[in-house]
Amino acid sequence: MSTGTEDEAILIIGAGLAGVSAAESVRKAGFAGRVVLAGDEPDAPYDRPPLSKSVLCSAEALSNLELRDPAFYAENGIELKLASTAELIERDSRRVHFADRTSVPYKKLVLTTGSSLRILPILPPGMPNVFYLRRLSDALALREALPQTCRMMIVGAGVIGLEVAATARTLGIAVTVLEAAATPMARAMCPTMCDFILGKHADHGVHIRTNTTVVNVDRFGAGYRVTLSDGDSVDTDVIVVGIGVVPNIGLAAAAGLTVSANGIHVNEFGQTSDENVYAAGEVAFHYNHRAGQMDRQENWLHAAAHGEHVGRTLVAGGPGYNEISGYWSDQFDFSIQSFGMPKGDRDVVRGSVTNGSFTIFHLVGDVVKGVSSINAARDMRTGKALVRDSARIPESVLSDPSIDLGKWRQSAMTSPAV
Ligand code: FAD
Ligand code: NDP
Repeated sequence: MSTGTEDEAILIIGAGLAGVSAAESVRKAGFAGRVVLAGDEPDAPYDRPPLSKSVLCSAEALSNLELRDPAFYAENGIELKLASTAELIERDSRRVHFADRTSVPYKKLVLTTGSSLRILPILPPGMPNVFYLRRLSDALALREALPQTCRMMIVGAGVIGLEVAATARTLGIAVTVLEAAATPMARAMCPTMCDFILGKHADHGVHIRTNTTVVNVDRFGAGYRVTLSDGDSVDTDVIVVGIGVVPNIGLAAAAGLTVSANGIHVNEFGQTSDENVYAAGEVAFHYNHRAGQMDRQENWLHAAAHGEHVGRTLVAGGPGYNEISGYWSDQFDFSIQSFGMPKGDRDVVRGSVTNGSFTIFHLVGDVVKGVSSINAARDMRTGKALVRDSARIPESVLSDPSIDLGKWRQSAMTSPAV
């Protein structure tokens, strides 16, 4: 694409992390035309990770949520169109219509519409003292309820469930977590990591009930009496539901773009089945060169990197997407990090699980494909480099905390075995 004239617009729908990253990168790539970043939320683009952590218990966290300084948008000539829901894409005339009856023409359109919460039909949003967590308004509502809460039930032992459980326990609230699966987080973590995290939650008094769902809910005082699938019933003041998300594909689907339950289908450059329409971030079922396959990721690192990549390459071209993603999570006094594959054929532990500071290398064959850690930032940095390089390092070296992996690797760089 040319770097644009004043009357050519790049329109980005979805003012979350991927949208902001895309807007910033089209400018950095030299695009001189109009850039419009439109989103349906009323707030200036903000960061979601603190919503399930510090925002629930700290006043200070609220003043630090914006993804970019307010001046950033004007300085970069990015028009923010907030509280504007895109309702219809007219691909023939290249124009998007919004619920507020405005419309914006585009030369290139980027869809960064993210995900919506999966809803538990028996506990729809809007029921008193029932909370979901995706937007700032959701977090503020839950935060307001916490001082009056003695007992909390959380449905879903995923990342939202466990982060909220940790925060609530820290505030002295009795917490029960229900998980439909036999082992929480089994897809997102290796067994050692799972056992450590669940053990820590148990140590802090979080009651996690696996193979269990909600079958009935009755009002009981100001809260609820919840009947569980195992026949038991539990009384609670509030219920938090965190049972996953679904990609927001509706706008793209109505416009006839190729979509599936996996998201909006895009190639390695983020291009959809229409050459003038792109998608990035959590909504995009994208081709990743390094992985050699289609993928959709639900984490901060990916939303930032993919938004940046799609914005840059649609203006300036360049290689296809090949980033490795990962996530972090803060629960109680431990910091979880994971990069690349979250589990391997073999998972090699380095450090002390008992002391709560360790790293796990995830191997496929003899190649380091992923790394996860608890409170081990230094090894994590080295581990990420090993994953990026698809390094081959003997298990005896990986597992020996007395060996400096960075130095070992440097000295072995000339060896073809590494
Ligand atoms: P989104 O953030 O979902 O943004 C999409 C935006 O598009 C939304 O504002 C949406 O309202 C808007 N939109 C949708 N449809 C339309 C439309 N038709 N018109 C206009 N606007 C529209 N990841 C980590 O790695 N670590 C963490 O610790 C972590 N914590 C998290 C905590 C919470 C509570 C949540 C919800 C997520 C967390 N994540 C974390 C995940 C990470 O924040 C997301 O992966 C990331 O925000 C996705 O960015 P996105 O821009 O692709 O989508
Ligand atoms: P997750 O997909 O992580 O976890 C949802 C969990 O709920 C799964 O274990 C799921 O089991 C379980 N579940 C599904 N249905 C039921 C049910 N009816 N009863 C009981 N359990 C059920 O989603 P979250 O809601 O935790 O998080 C939503 C989004 O926010 C994700 O995109 C996530 O990446 C993001 N996020 C990321 C964070 C991080 O990286 N630190 C922190 C917070 C949020 P099953 O898998 O078997 O369906």
